Amino acid sequence: LHVAKFELSAPDIRRLPADSGIEVAFAGRSNAGKSSALNTLTNQKALARTSKTPGRTQLINVFDIRENRRLIDLPGYGFAKVPLEMKKKWQKALAEYLEKRMSLKGLVLLMDIRHPLKDLDVDLINWANDCQLPTLVLLTKADKLKPGKRNSEVLQVRKKCVTMHDNIKVQAFSSLTKVGLEQATAAISDWFIN
Ligand code: GDP
Repeated sequence: LHVAKFELSAPDIRRLPADSGIEVAFAGRSNAGKSSALNTLTNQKALARTSKTPGRTQLINVFDIRENRRLIDLPGYGFAKVPLEMKKKWQKALAEYLEKRMSLKGLVLLMDIRHPLKDLDVDLINWANDCQLPTLVLLTKADKLKPGKRNSEVLQVRKKCVTMHDNIKVQAFSSLTKVGLEQATAAISDWFIN
């Protein structure tokens, strides 16, 4: 996935670029490895910055692949320090974005392979299914598990995901070893064709 340029950082969903063309959104709990995955998938060193300050207001980053084709880097969720009120607000905005954004053609959900399917991940998968939004789950940091354990984890998560979502793929991914890079790139590129 070649990124032509960084387009903008939006403080909230209302400030995103015009809702036309095709976009693919990246979501996940903070520390899931989303920034690393974005950098790996786009073959850039620091497109998305890793290691942010917990609890700080995060921006939505928009990266242009080409004209009218965008990657949307949604803020990481799940920081314990964020007040409940703010969490609720963000969840509502996120659900609304998934539901209303016409150009959104796919969701990439990043989960640490050692800590998959936390509450908000499950919520997100269910919302995505409600919106008939194709979803690619990347089980990140796959290099942290031995191949046997990794494969059984993928199978287990996949089994649960398909009970919640009609159009979902689950695969292992590592920014370190590039496991799953080819398949993830192919799946995301598919969404951009049209
Ligand atoms: P984000 O908060 O979801 O954007 O997560 P980051 O990309 O900043 O990664 C969080 C932490 O996990 C950092 O310390 C990364 O170095 C580490 N990390 C990310 N991807 C991988 C991976 O594929 N393998 C390993 N071993 N560590 C990773």
